[in-house]
Amino acid sequence: MTTRDIDHDAVVIGAGLSGLYAVYRLRADGLDVRGFESAEGVGGTWYHNRYPGARCDVESIDYSYSFDDDLQQEWTWSERFATQSEILAYLEHVADRFDLRKHFDFLIRVTSTVYDEDAAAWTITTDTGVTTTARFLIMATGVLSATNRPDIPGRDRFEGESYHTGEWPHHEVSFAGKRVGVIGTGSSGIQSIPVIAETAEQLVVFQRSPNYSIPAGNRPLTEEYIAEVKANYAERRRLSRESGGGTPNFPYPKGALEVDEAERKRIYDEWWQRGGYLFAKAFPDQTTSLEANDTAREYVEAKIREIVKDPAVADDLIPTDHPIGTKRIVTDSGYFETFNRDNVKLVNLRKTPIEEITDTGVRTSDHLYELDMIVYATGFDAMTGSLSRIDIRGRGGRKLVDEWSAGPRTYIGLAVHGFPNMFIVTGAGSPSVLANMVLGAEQHVDWISDCISYLGEHDAKSIEADAEAVDEWVAECNAKASATLFPQANSWYMGANIEGKPRVFMPYIGGFANYGRIIDEVADSGYKGFTVS
Ligand code: FAD
Ligand code: NAP
Repeated sequence: MTTRDIDHDAVVIGAGLSGLYAVYRLRADGLDVRGFESAEGVGGTWYHNRYPGARCDVESIDYSYSFDDDLQQEWTWSERFATQSEILAYLEHVADRFDLRKHFDFLIRVTSTVYDEDAAAWTITTDTGVTTTARFLIMATGVLSATNRPDIPGRDRFEGESYHTGEWPHHEVSFAGKRVGVIGTGSSGIQSIPVIAETAEQLVVFQRSPNYSIPAGNRPLTEEYIAEVKANYAERRRLSRESGGGTPNFPYPKGALEVDEAERKRIYDEWWQRGGYLFAKAFPDQTTSLEANDTAREYVEAKIREIVKDPAVADDLIPTDHPIGTKRIVTDSGYFETFNRDNVKLVNLRKTPIEEITDTGVRTSDHLYELDMIVYATGFDAMTGSLSRIDIRGRGGRKLVDEWSAGPRTYIGLAVHGFPNMFIVTGAGSPSVLANMVLGAEQHVDWISDCISYLGEHDAKSIEADAEAVDEWVAECNAKASATLFPQANSWYMGANIEGKPRVFMPYIGGFANYGRIIDEVADSGYKGFTVS
């Protein structure tokens, strides 16, 4: 390939909220950008996860773009935590408002990307045979987009309907009069179970590990509240960028063990009322000290026991295998109450494991559950799965999957040694899923855009993370994680949900604001830790 053969300045893979903003921003910089998306439309997560009950767990007024004030003033969210369809409508609106669709090829999956060192450019190959070349490659492929359908014996024999929450069909799925089994009790299972239970004749919940879940406290947003938010949006965004998690929520200034019982209860009551996963952040020491964590755990256990009428079922629903907050706390709407219904049965797979799926249902060690439908709420090959499913080859033909065989290795989450001119959006080594991912995507794309402009200004063809910088960043990420209780959980953050995946804590847990300062310093220093050539 010669420089003349390079088709585009940049190729963006993925038309979720990261890819849409990447195309918008790079185009504004005057670059020629082309996007590829395997789905039929834009939206990414919100295109694919159409299961009943799907909503965001970060408040919609925060879980939305900040890059254009007119956009955030014009758009009005109807609820505190919007439904999947409302979020998808928002992303479709963004795509239309900024005329982004024309830059994407839809229904095309990128199968390989190969770097040509002489030309300092990437060749991108797809499943339709379309091939193109670009100077820069932007991986906006999503950290929760590669679905995990566990290889349970007999899985493909089942003759009833079967769906994965992360690949939910576009047609209406009716549960009425049906015997439905849901496998999995992470966020997707816990959001869908109460809705399915409303109309299914019978619902069997197959739970391997119970999860902590806190009621969302969802509500319609009033006109007065929206007006107040819109009048102060800039300040709300500033606070979010200064926070640990990308939203204007800050833990109590004292630790859980520094206050007396009454004060502790008052704070937990307050955060319980706020609702959802934020409960993990009520006190700053909750996910660093087991003793502090125990106070939060006991509070939530008591709440579960209050809600669930049958004490034996409550016992099964209370997690015992991880400190609270070290797996993402689920944000639910009526989850525990669902187990008081006559048409719902909880099967504790720790006591009676699944042995096989038959043509008519699920057989555990003690019973065959005859079913009309199985819903797999079994999650994702998170953080790295969407990248490892592409054959990515860097300098000298090295493969990303080999370089990452012991876990993902990035420099500041954005770049990989041996893979010049490739940028990853909100992936491993960045706050990613530990923070509001819309602001995370904006933070990354803005950084990438500035970096590409810098290369242009300095007449440089390529940028590559140095091996030592990667070593140091990986060590920093590990040190930050080791100072917390997070590595104690068998979570997807740790890769523990996928057999054979290395056990490494993948996101950067040093906080959203701190991380922003670190990547800005790298840019301000003239890209220290990178070789620009
Ligand atoms: P995605 O939205 O995953 O988009 C990636 C796109 O890339 C997909 O459309 C995919 O089809 C495409 N793609 C991947 N590989 C290829 C390929 N090889 N070729 C072509 N196309 C490809 N985060 C929050 O901060 N708050 C929330 O409330 C929240 N709720 C969530 C709810 C659910 C159900 C899930 C699954 C995740 C949630 N997340 C949430 C995380 C969420 O994934 C991110 O917030 C965000 O949507 C990610 O956007 P993205 O564009 O980076 O990736
Ligand atoms: P998940 O958290 O990984 O949950 C998957 C569930 O499937 C777990 O309960 C798991 O059990 C179970 N499972 C997996 N393989 C199994 C097997 N072979 N047999 C029985 N059970 C099995 O996935 P998720 O619920 O899709 O959520 C992933 C992440 O997406 C969330 O943590 C969150 O960040 C995001 N999300 C957010 C929302 C929201 O509220 N906005 C909604 C959905 C998803 P084990 O725990 O024992 O492995």
